[in-house]
Amino acid sequence: MMYNFNAGPSALPKEVTDEAAKAIINFNGSGLSILEIGHRTPLFEEVMNEARSLVKELMDLDAHHEVLFLHGGATTQFMQIPMNLLEEDETVAIADTGVWSGKAIDEASCFGKVAIACSSKDKNYNYIPDTIEPVVGAKYFHLTTNNTIFGTQWKNIPQVNVPLVADMSSDIFSRQMDFNSFDLIYAGVQKNAGAAGATLAVINKNILGKIKRRIPPIMDYAKHIEAKSMLNTPPVFAILVSMLTLRWLKTNGGVAAMEKLNNEKSRMLYDYLDSSALFKGTVRKDDRSNMNVCFVTEDNLMEKRFLEFAKQNNIYGIKGHRLSGGFRVSLYNATPLSSVQYLIEQMKNFENSI
Ligand SMILES: *Cc1c(COP(=O)(O)O)cnc(C)c1O
Repeated sequence: MMYNFNAGPSALPKEVTDEAAKAIINFNGSGLSILEIGHRTPLFEEVMNEARSLVKELMDLDAHHEVLFLHGGATTQFMQIPMNLLEEDETVAIADTGVWSGKAIDEASCFGKVAIACSSKDKNYNYIPDTIEPVVGAKYFHLTTNNTIFGTQWKNIPQVNVPLVADMSSDIFSRQMDFNSFDLIYAGVQKNAGAAGATLAVINKNILGKIKRRIPPIMDYAKHIEAKSMLNTPPVFAILVSMLTLRWLKTNGGVAAMEKLNNEKSRMLYDYLDSSALFKGTVRKDDRSNMNVCFVTEDNLMEKRFLEFAKQNNIYGIKGHRLSGGFRVSLYNATPLSSVQYLIEQMKNFENSI
């Protein structure tokens, strides 16, 4: 057995990969593979409808919020959002809390003006800024709720009086939030909600249709909403895996139950890090992510030795991102508590052996 802590694409529940494997051979007793059916057939339409309504249910969305499954990853949203919301002479306020927000800033600047609402760049993004500049007059405010690479997470979402847009790629469905208070939420689903290939977008439709720019139809959220997320061939298999993951989430108690479990998993690991003489957490305590736990050792040699030890003990995916170094353990919804217990045991064994 492998213990998978990869940052993305990441661990999926075994029930989900089993079901997805069956669907590749014979989908729902149709005698056809999910990979070879038409997307405009009732067979797939049911998958799409269930996926969209599970998102609404799990997030408790109101009637203004529409759910889309799109192509192109969260990265395409960095571009599609300003294309749909921002005029050239208007300003978007963006919280600069890491690599992904940096990309959101770069892409938005192709369409309009960007104001940096706050930044933690001065300390290699190892904290969440305590205050943000007033965003009065901004067209919308963008933040990255969880910073996958540096392991920080907004525990309290700033209250702003402009539309709120959030990249939730790495903590969607992991904790309770007032999802209706966001006007646009997006996430590549491969971290917490499925397999690579689909991007989830939740949009308050009242914010659309307010700019003069001509939007290419395939990039126009309104067109996707009108077409019930089937403007062109959707990523059929990725959406199936997402739907199965959302079903699994619901069966296992929904977002509230996930939050409880994720708090427990990350608390155990941070407690151990705080007691360890070898491993040290890199993030300011109040801002530690429950999804991506980043830590280092004193020297490179020790780092290499622990990586080798982890490999021998079937621990996968814990090497840190090259920009933050050290280690990163991702504890998404599908990572069971027992895997975290196992990892901590192995870290202790290693620490005692040196
Ligand atoms: C992984 C990630 C992305 C990039 O997602 P893609 O689907 O690869 O485009 C963007 N934002 C955050 C917060 C991420 O964790």
